[in-house]
Amino acid sequence: MMDETELRKEIIKTALDMHRSGLVQGTGGNFSVRCAGGFIITPSGMDYALLAPEDLPKLSPDCELIEGTRTPSIESALHAAVYRMRPDVNAVAHTHSLYATAASALRRPLPCLTDNQAVMFGGDIPTARHAPIGTPALAENVSAALAGGAAVLMANHGALCVGKDLRQAADRCCMLELFAKIFFTAASAGGGTALSSEEAAEEAADIAARYGQK
Ligand SMILES: [Zn+2]
Repeated sequence: MMDETELRKEIIKTALDMHRSGLVQGTGGNFSVRCAGGFIITPSGMDYALLAPEDLPKLSPDCELIEGTRTPSIESALHAAVYRMRPDVNAVAHTHSLYATAASALRRPLPCLTDNQAVMFGGDIPTARHAPIGTPALAENVSAALAGGAAVLMANHGALCVGKDLRQAADRCCMLELFAKIFFTAASAGGGTALSSEEAAEEAADIAARYGQK
């Protein structure tokens, strides 16, 4: 496992990259990576451009502060809930990116309009029931809706993606934003036709076997 200072640097770099690409605005969003004995997360309400590695607190799986002096992200309990539920997940990224957040306000799943969405997310992307920012109810609703998936929309709030590492979680945030943008573009032209869950699952399995370097 990567040295914890390196993990902190990787989180800061990822947050800055996402800020530059417009997926994160201001001090919004939060990012974390699992580490030995818990997870490291971005602090609450701090400018990403000014973060030093020691500004990122380390929390236990139950969200107790183990290391650091900064107040951790207001969504720490949500990140903790995902890590407890998903041993396969090593990183969590949460954004308020424009199109994904707009889609979250519709309070219904983001339909699978493209083959690429089927391959990357396995079909529709669920939307978690609404609960206020940083509450135990939000942690519960979002982790329940995420279940075994890679991404979830948070009603009237934003998006959350998980990954085997931070790069994968961040890449998924970019792709989710693209698919939400495609959804609104198609909606402006009448809506399009979504793939059924069976078609999406079949295509995901087929491409997993045939795409990329072996
Ligand atoms: Zn948020």
